[in-house]
Amino acid sequence: MRLVLAQMKHETNTFSPVPTPLSRFAHGRDRPWEGAEAREEFKGTGTALGAFIDLAEQAGAEIVLPIAAQAWPSGRVQQSAFEYIAGKIVDAVKQGCDAVLLDLHGAMVTERFEDGEGELLARIRRVAPRVPIGVAHDMHANLFPAAARCATSLAGYQTYPHVDMYETGVRAAKPVLDLLSSSKKPVLAFGHRPMLPHVMRQSSLDSPNKEIQARAKEMEKQPGVLSATFFVGFPHADIPHAGASAVVVTDNDPELARRCCEELLDMAWERRAEFVYRPEDLASSMKKAKVLAGKPVVLLDHYDNCASGGTMDTTTVLEAMIEARLEEAAAFAVCDPEAVARMKEAGTGGRVTLPIGGKADMPALGLKGKPLALAGTVKRIVDGLYRNDGPMARGEQMDMGTTAVLDTGGIEVVVVSRQVEPFDIAAFRAVGIDPSSKRYMMLKSRVHWRAGLGSLARGVVECAGTGVCTSDYSQLQFRKVRRPVYPLDDM
Ligand SMILES: [Zn+2]
Repeated sequence: MRLVLAQMKHETNTFSPVPTPLSRFAHGRDRPWEGAEAREEFKGTGTALGAFIDLAEQAGAEIVLPIAAQAWPSGRVQQSAFEYIAGKIVDAVKQGCDAVLLDLHGAMVTERFEDGEGELLARIRRVAPRVPIGVAHDMHANLFPAAARCATSLAGYQTYPHVDMYETGVRAAKPVLDLLSSSKKPVLAFGHRPMLPHVMRQSSLDSPNKEIQARAKEMEKQPGVLSATFFVGFPHADIPHAGASAVVVTDNDPELARRCCEELLDMAWERRAEFVYRPEDLASSMKKAKVLAGKPVVLLDHYDNCASGGTMDTTTVLEAMIEARLEEAAAFAVCDPEAVARMKEAGTGGRVTLPIGGKADMPALGLKGKPLALAGTVKRIVDGLYRNDGPMARGEQMDMGTTAVLDTGGIEVVVVSRQVEPFDIAAFRAVGIDPSSKRYMMLKSRVHWRAGLGSLARGVVECAGTGVCTSDYSQLQFRKVRRPVYPLDDM
């Protein structure tokens, strides 16, 4: 048995000014991981691709792994990058195989295609019309009909923070392997509801998504249901099919698949008002932070999360912390390679005064980048490599590039050269900061920080800063998303 396994993951924020060339998928190397290197890199990791490798090995299959490409969310994927990655996968399938297992995000927008994954799957179908295809998707997938039409089996994460990537790989792959052994015949139902659940209200730790995901899990225990997924979707993508969808796969029972799929969608639609989020103004957030007891208190800079396409270099929240005289604080992080270079030049212990962040303009918001002048001591300089402890993306290598810690007296500001979302304690260990020793911990994140840092927090204040993953949808101009759509339209 010959199996083609591959990964192509990108969540595209069409409002983001951050470019997405092939190098963004390569993590400081020339190209994304390919072949034996990709297998070595992902074997044993808590990812969908890690699960595919384990399952293929257990089945004694010959593994062909042309490419493992993932990049932090950003603007539209450059067409040449998409062509390179998709080309590698299609070429591998063309050589002949018994099945294809793909670890895809499900919200990739390229310069030419609004549905990057659908385009990849359609190309695979053209060269291999009957080969079974298993697809693992992120819960933030924006699903177009093409994916459901082309995939044999499709399953998405049921947790946000995403701590079930590996399990999702198993849920996506098993029906395909069972089809190969003729023990199951997967059929798939797919549907949408015209709604854009707010990212700040999407966590599976909170209602209403908690109950919807629990119901999906319950369905999977039902005889004949092979997988059930409700996708919250990714709203910062101005494309027709952004938003909520569901996919249910059953063993040759289209009626059951349709019924379960509609039930998940109805549940979400009935509770749509609970998916609406109203940000509070920053001054109120700072006041709240001052009086909260216990440490650390997390200050969530949720408008500038690089895991949703944020530039990770806006400083509105950091500036407000300084003005509010919040001390014993750490800020993770501002992405500014130029500032890192200057701090490296000054060396550990050196005094510096320099502009931090604000390098990127944000035309979609009509905003120019605005650096913040900071003075302090360079406390530490590190290479920025670490491996996640988990539970999210356990064992995966992260690379925030050369990283410097600037101590302003009140705040230790982590300045990174490459974007990374703080969701794992290893990120703090890498820069020598113990979050539990801090009164305040500013994080550029929205929900994922809860995976590895949530248990440390004694309080949380959601801070409305500046950024292209703004929580105030009225700042964004939606032109292409299907209308009417809730809550942009009153439905
Ligand atoms: Zn996601």
